[in-house]
Amino acid sequence: MSELTTMKTHWAASLSEEDISKEIQLSGWVSIVRDLGGIKFVELRDRSGIFQVVSDPNINPEVHSVFQKLRSEDVITVKGVVSKRPEDTYNETLKTGTIEMYPVSVEVLSKADVLPFQLDDETVSEDLRLKYRYLDIRRGKILNNLSLRHKITKTIRDYLDSIDFMEVETPILIKTTPEGARDYLVPSRVHPNKFYALPQSPQIFKQLLMVGGVERYFQIARCFRDEDLRADRQPEFTQVDIEMSFVKQDDVLSMMEGLIKNIFKTAGVEVQTPIKRIKYKEAMDRFGSDKPDTRFGLELFDVSDIMEKSSFVAFSDVIKNGGTARAIKIPGIAGYSRKDMDDIRNMAISFGAKGLAWVTYCEDGSVKSPILKYLTEAEMAEIQKRAEAQKGDIVFFVADKASVVFNVLGRFRLYFGKKLNMIDESKHDLLWVTDFPMFEYSEEEGRYMAMHHPFTSPNPEDVDKLESDKGNCRALAYDIIYNGNEIGGGSVRIHTPEMQEKVFHALGLKEEEIQAKFGFMINAFRYGTPPHAGIALGLDRVVALLTNSESIRDVIAFPKNSQAKCLMTDAPAEADESQLQELRLKLVPVKK
Ligand code: ASP
Repeated sequence: MSELTTMKTHWAASLSEEDISKEIQLSGWVSIVRDLGGIKFVELRDRSGIFQVVSDPNINPEVHSVFQKLRSEDVITVKGVVSKRPEDTYNETLKTGTIEMYPVSVEVLSKADVLPFQLDDETVSEDLRLKYRYLDIRRGKILNNLSLRHKITKTIRDYLDSIDFMEVETPILIKTTPEGARDYLVPSRVHPNKFYALPQSPQIFKQLLMVGGVERYFQIARCFRDEDLRADRQPEFTQVDIEMSFVKQDDVLSMMEGLIKNIFKTAGVEVQTPIKRIKYKEAMDRFGSDKPDTRFGLELFDVSDIMEKSSFVAFSDVIKNGGTARAIKIPGIAGYSRKDMDDIRNMAISFGAKGLAWVTYCEDGSVKSPILKYLTEAEMAEIQKRAEAQKGDIVFFVADKASVVFNVLGRFRLYFGKKLNMIDESKHDLLWVTDFPMFEYSEEEGRYMAMHHPFTSPNPEDVDKLESDKGNCRALAYDIIYNGNEIGGGSVRIHTPEMQEKVFHALGLKEEEIQAKFGFMINAFRYGTPPHAGIALGLDRVVALLTNSESIRDVIAFPKNSQAKCLMTDAPAEADESQLQELRLKLVPVKK
C-alpha cells in the first residue's frame, strides 16, 4: 500500500511477512501494554486491527523512555522496520501475529485518561456505552457493523447506478406526509406560528420526481417518525427509497431481487432468485402473520366449519357472527403439566384471545380436552384428520375476529417454533407477500385507514369495492420478508387525479381537506404522469439482521436509546427562553 498520510504509511493489520525489512510508520491507539523482563510490548490498534511494537532499553533507550509512560488508549505514532518475531512468540490470534517492529522513533500524539469502562469488558451496560458512544465504537464491533453498512450502501449505489437509477435528495423540511405515524414538527421563525414537518418518508417527493421525468430514482433517505417508544425503534432511521416509472408490480419485484442478491452477497450470503411469493391472505391463513417466518412449519388450519355446527356455543356463536376458528398443532408437548397449560392460556389472553381451547393426544393413546363434551366423535375425528395429530401432540383452538385469531395463533407459532428449536438459524429465507388489503379498520379511529399509504393503487379488479366493500378491497402492495422480519415494502401508485380523489374519498377525507393537504399532488397528476411504482427497504434493519445484531442501535453510529434520547448529547433538551421567544412558543408545564 502506498503512503496513506504523513502520519501513517500502512494500516496496522494490512502488514504481513511480505513487508519484512520495509520501513513503515504506524499511527493508532495503545491497545495493550505488557512488560516482560523490562521489555515493553505494545499492541498498536487502528481501524484495521492490531500490530505489535516492541521496545528494548538496550536497543533504543530514547524510545524506551517514552514506552515506559504509555497507557492504554494513548494515541501514538511509530516509525521503524518490520521484522519477523521469534517463532516461540507467534500470536496465532492476530493476523499480524508473526511480525513486529522495534521503533526507531515514537511520538505521543495524545494522552488518554482512564476510560469510564474497559474496552474489552463485555458486561458494560448499554446506557454507559451510549453515553460514551465514541469509545463504544472503538471496541470494534460497532466499527465492523458500520464498515459492513458502508459496503452495503456502496453496493446499493453501484447496483442501482448500473441499471440507470439516479440518486436525488429530497427535502427534510416539508409539509406533512401521511405515512400513518406522527410527524416531528419544526417551528418556523420567519413564518410565525407555522411549522415544517420532518419527512416520515420521501413518498410524495419521489412520486413527483416521476412526474418530473426522473423515471428511476433512489435515495438513501433519513426518515423521521414520532411513534410511541418501543424497544427497537428509532425516531430517525434510514430507508433505501426507490421509485420507477413505466413499470408494473413484477418489474419492481424483479429489480429488487437483483438488489437484494447484491446486498446479501456483500454480507457473504448467497440468495436464490426468484424469491418465493405468497399472497397476503395465504400468509395469514397458513402462518397467522403478514411477515411469516417460513424457516419452519407449524402451519395454522381452519376449523370454522366444524365449530360452527358443533354444540360448543362459545365458538359456534363467534362464527355465526362473522368470526373465524383456527387451530395449530404443536407436536410432542402432550406431557405438559396443568401449570404449563395455565401459562399457555394466559399467554393467549395476553395476546388478545378471550379464551383458549385445546385437545391433548396423550402418549397412552387417550384423548383429553376441556371441550370434549361439546364435540361429537365425527367432529373429533375430523379435527384429528386435519391436524394430522398423533400421540404426544396438542392442538390449540382460538375463535374470534380474524385479526385476533391470527395474532394469537401467529404468535403461538413463533413462540413454539423457538421454544421447540424448530427454526433452522442457518437458513436465509426471503419471501414476497403481495396482494395486501387496501384498507385496515382502525378500532381506535372507528374507520378504515390506508394499510400502506393513500397513494397505493387498488387492485384494478377491486376498484368497485372501494366504497362498497372496503374490507375485501385488495391493493397492489407488497412487502419483502427476511426470516420473519419485514425488511421493505412498497406499492404500485395511483397516477390519475380521478383515482387519487376516489381513494381519498374512500378514506373519508372531505373535499376541502383533500385540496388543502394534497391539492398540489392531485394537480401534478394532471400534467402527464407516467404509471409508477416503488418500494423502500429498511437499511438499518437489513444491516442489523445481516450482522446478527440484537438491535438496530448496533448498526447506527449515534443512535437514540429506547427512550428516544441521545445519552451522549442529552437530546432532546430544553430550549433557551430567547429561542422560544423568537419562535413565539410558550411552554405548558407538564402535569405530574
Ligand atoms: N414510503 C413507503 C414507506 O415508507 C414505501 C413506499 O411505498 O415506497 O413505507
